[in-house]
Amino acid sequence: MTFPGRLPRGLGLAYAGSAMPTHEVLNQPPPLEGYNLFATDRALAEGVRREGAAWAEERLVRLGQLAGGEALGWGVEANANPPVLRTHDRYGHRIDEVEFHPAWHALLRLAVGHELHALPWRDPRPGAHVARAALCFVLEQVEAGHGCPISMTYSVIPALRAQPELAAEWQPCFTSTAYDPRLVPVAHKTGALCGMAMTEKQGGSDVRANTTRAVALGGRGPGAEYELTGHKWFCSAPMSDAFLVLAQAERGLSCFLLPRFLPDGTRNRFHIQRLKDKLGNRSNASSEVEFDRAWARMVGEEGRGVPTIIEMVNHTRLDCVIGSACAMRQAVAQATHHCAHRAAFGKVLADQPLMQNVLADLAVESEAATVAMLRLARAYDDETQRHFARLATAVVKYWVCKRGPMLVAEALECLGGNGYVEESMMPRLYREVPLNSIWEGSGNVMCLDVLRAMARGSEAVEAFFTEVDLARGADRRLDAFTGRLRETLGDFASIETRARRIVEHMALALQGSLLVRHGDPAVADAFLSSRLAGDHGLAFGTLPAGVDFVRIIERARPAVG
Ligand SMILES: Cc1cc2nc3c(=O)[nH]c(=O)nc-3n(C[C@H](O)[C@H](O)[C@H](O)COP(=O)(O)OP(=O)(O)OC[C@H]3O[C@@H](n4cnc5c(N)ncnc54)[C@H](O)[C@@H]3O)c2cc1C
Repeated sequence: MTFPGRLPRGLGLAYAGSAMPTHEVLNQPPPLEGYNLFATDRALAEGVRREGAAWAEERLVRLGQLAGGEALGWGVEANANPPVLRTHDRYGHRIDEVEFHPAWHALLRLAVGHELHALPWRDPRPGAHVARAALCFVLEQVEAGHGCPISMTYSVIPALRAQPELAAEWQPCFTSTAYDPRLVPVAHKTGALCGMAMTEKQGGSDVRANTTRAVALGGRGPGAEYELTGHKWFCSAPMSDAFLVLAQAERGLSCFLLPRFLPDGTRNRFHIQRLKDKLGNRSNASSEVEFDRAWARMVGEEGRGVPTIIEMVNHTRLDCVIGSACAMRQAVAQATHHCAHRAAFGKVLADQPLMQNVLADLAVESEAATVAMLRLARAYDDETQRHFARLATAVVKYWVCKRGPMLVAEALECLGGNGYVEESMMPRLYREVPLNSIWEGSGNVMCLDVLRAMARGSEAVEAFFTEVDLARGADRRLDAFTGRLRETLGDFASIETRARRIVEHMALALQGSLLVRHGDPAVADAFLSSRLAGDHGLAFGTLPAGVDFVRIIERARPAVG
């Protein structure tokens, strides 16, 4: 047994702070801080090497150290001091500005400075999307809200390329490593951020129900100038310098780039009505906006708004996977750390068989999410993998984002009452993580997207199973599960009703294949026996006896103290 809290002096560990005359503080774990979030994460470090981003290790170690240091405090501050909307100045002029706490700016400065918003576009070498995914995975464990503008700024580039002159104008600013939060025309800025506004009151998933109208100012079509009138019910990061927007033009729903400033340097008619009072994601501003003949330029073909903006959405979906996988990792890090240092009933928690089952089960789920995320990111590095990326993005987005809230809730309980208290960070993770399953396509919408991708032709399904089959013959449980899955896919009766079950099984097959090939053997064995062979309950902590619990937990625990 290797847990550091092996039974302690007297009751247990004594981490006494400044003792009150009434009592000495005993049996409280040391805070999980001052550690390297990359170097202490074995599943992540191994995956980064395997998926082609070994060249980024040095910068990951650097960011990992910063994330486990001062940035932890910024995360707390930025969420305790949420943004404030200023609609007017003191003379009554409309200004539509959002004020953020300095900690928010510090986080964004760190993220932009480390290229989390732009690495694959600035340095498009093999493994660049994997390296960026790992960088985001590290920093967003500390604070998730700032990941929203980072993700949208990263994701806009492939969509913007549909309109080369706009890409030429905006890409240098969107990919700059200077964080410039000033609300001034982009020509005067050293760096810019981009947002996205699709969702309207009457429909978010169903964007074809958008009613915002686009009227051509002169000529029509790609690159032309339009005025947009309408509203958006959700528009996150409204302090951004520009937004990719959907609106109805004469020939149907089209995509536009809408900047905060007009070409003459005055403010565009983009009005922030109010900020949403959200469950979590509190450091980030999400707003309702009105466009009052707001000036914008068309991106891509008229009437082809959805296919144009989907280039952006696919990348933000990858980021939802990163966001959920990293929340799961942080929750497991907190739970394994706490239980290694806390004793109850005369024994360290991590030595208690039932707690070992819980911790190992959580660790297995987290590692499965990490390997899937990194494999998916690699598909974005390689154009020949686009069919795999098409299907796997929807499959993995559905499943990893669905597992996140359940895992975080269970990990929170491992800390007992401390887990329910804000200082532990667990409540923040708990409130944050359901969001990844909602935005960029909610659960059902992702499952329907999987069916759509499969119906479009056989390439995506073939690419998906080619990947899964790389582990064929390595484990009979995986082979049997995959065989059953193929049969299920051949049955089209009530397929929409069954879509969640189908997509869940696709995700499990992919994760099983990846873990068999690349994972720690104890993790892979526990995953297959529980998730694929069915020896598992409905709650975490129901792995079969015989699993190498200690090995799995020690692999997941950040080795600090
Ligand atoms: C904090 C936050 C920030 C956001 N930021 C942005 C932003 O910056 N820009 C932006 O454009 N949007 C943003 N959104 C909006 C988000 O993308 C939408 O809320 C989401 O796409 C769901 O749309 P909706 O809310 O209209 O729900 P609906 O589309 O009404 O969906 C409600 C439920 O019905 C399900 N459903 C929908 N269609 C079907 C179907 N055919 N069959 C079965 N089930 C179905 C969905 O899965 C969902 O569970 C944000 C949302 C949140 C919560």
